[in-house]
Amino acid sequence: MEFYELTIAEAHEKLVKKEISSFDLTKAFLRRIEELNESFFSYLTVTSNLALSQAKKVDDLISRGEKIDILAGIPLAIKDNILVKGEKCTAASKILEDYIAPYDATAVKKIKEKGSVILGKTNLDEFAMGSSTENSAFGATKNPRDISRVPGGSSGGSAAAVAANMCCYALGSDTGGSIRQPASFCGVVGLKPTYGAVSRYGLMAMASSLDQIGPITKTVEDAKIVFEVISGKDPLDSTSIEFQQIVARPVSDLIIGIPKEYFIKGTDPEVEKIIRASIKKLESLNIKIEEISLPHTEYALSCYYIVMPSEVSANLARYDGIKYGYSVVRQKREGTKDLLDVYLRSREEGLGEEVRRRIMLGTYALSAGYYEAYYLKAQKVRTLIKQDFEKAFKKVDLILTPVSPAPAFKIGEKITDPLTMYLSDIFTIAPNLAGLPAISIPAGKVGELPVGLQVVGKPFSENTILEFGQFFEKNIKVF
Ligand code: GLN
Repeated sequence: MEFYELTIAEAHEKLVKKEISSFDLTKAFLRRIEELNESFFSYLTVTSNLALSQAKKVDDLISRGEKIDILAGIPLAIKDNILVKGEKCTAASKILEDYIAPYDATAVKKIKEKGSVILGKTNLDEFAMGSSTENSAFGATKNPRDISRVPGGSSGGSAAAVAANMCCYALGSDTGGSIRQPASFCGVVGLKPTYGAVSRYGLMAMASSLDQIGPITKTVEDAKIVFEVISGKDPLDSTSIEFQQIVARPVSDLIIGIPKEYFIKGTDPEVEKIIRASIKKLESLNIKIEEISLPHTEYALSCYYIVMPSEVSANLARYDGIKYGYSVVRQKREGTKDLLDVYLRSREEGLGEEVRRRIMLGTYALSAGYYEAYYLKAQKVRTLIKQDFEKAFKKVDLILTPVSPAPAFKIGEKITDPLTMYLSDIFTIAPNLAGLPAISIPAGKVGELPVGLQVVGKPFSENTILEFGQFFEKNIKVF
């Protein structure tokens, strides 16, 4: 087995036993990135100097015989909308092409404190808006399982980096599925934590009431390790919460709900087959399965595409050609008439098509004449969706669904049709609207293409999800 194939848990054991050094492990990943990044384009920035100096520090601790944390010396990749002090942070947007992060995101600070090694920053759909990583201003990431296909999005760079062994684990962000859907497309594990479980401080805001940072890993065990490090209340994010995990019950005692609204026309029959086979196998292992109903599911996508762009339009107002990044003034462009002209031209030239589309949608939905008809209505629908889950969770402990209606699609296949692209998140969006934790676990393959299973839990029941996930990985997963 090559160094770069190790999980966090395996690499930690080898570091402690001095079978490898963090420096050699880091070097192995950097070499791998050098070899593969041209083909897959997972990384936008590689932070070799930072990585090697962090690795040396951990090796010093080990050689002095000090006890090290489980993440110490373990190399990771970070989505390029999460700030790492002193390094570029572009959100894959031209408007932030040369932006250097002035501080660490809280999740990054926590990971640094544990001694984890930062290899670089990964590609994404611009400002995390998309489902394929094709909306990056710097080029599309490719799926390592099939290079003609997308890795999913928006955390496609992070998921591809984990799948191609170009890092041991990665951080992504999830607003409507951006951790789970790429994890599913690339055949890795992705956890979106409960809203408020992980600080959003230092995550470039897309839609603040939906965004969460979470881990993308090779195993469920690794996702648990990372989640435990990055979660917790942060005084710098007032929406983060001091929480106690719901005590995980033994898997054999769990009742699993299968929502009938998630098995709909339009889902690839091969995907449905894999999910149904997984459920059958669970039943054969004496796990209790119950059909449930989440009646407002059909409104989730439309509700999300009002709430999310509304928040996007407010959050992205800060990129105005004055405060941050790209500006027609700094470009010394001739013919700029006045301040309004600076705003308009900087935003038009600096922001991509999808981002501008969403800003316009959101501005429209929030405008005086339409606020009540769109935004306010969508917020009410959001409450109904949340209540569906609350009712369901009175009867069941976890809910199983597909992650995405189809496996990874071809590069270019959906880019000219935003509405079809939006549909690939139809199963992942509702947990964000309801603030619930959810994981994507590899469940099978259609040909060579991985398919993930989504497991959704009650607020702050990550432990239960992860315990079930480990059981699933051991007993059911088919590859
Ligand atoms: N793909 C979804 C969108 O385009 C979700 C994005 C995300 O989770 N960041 O909005």
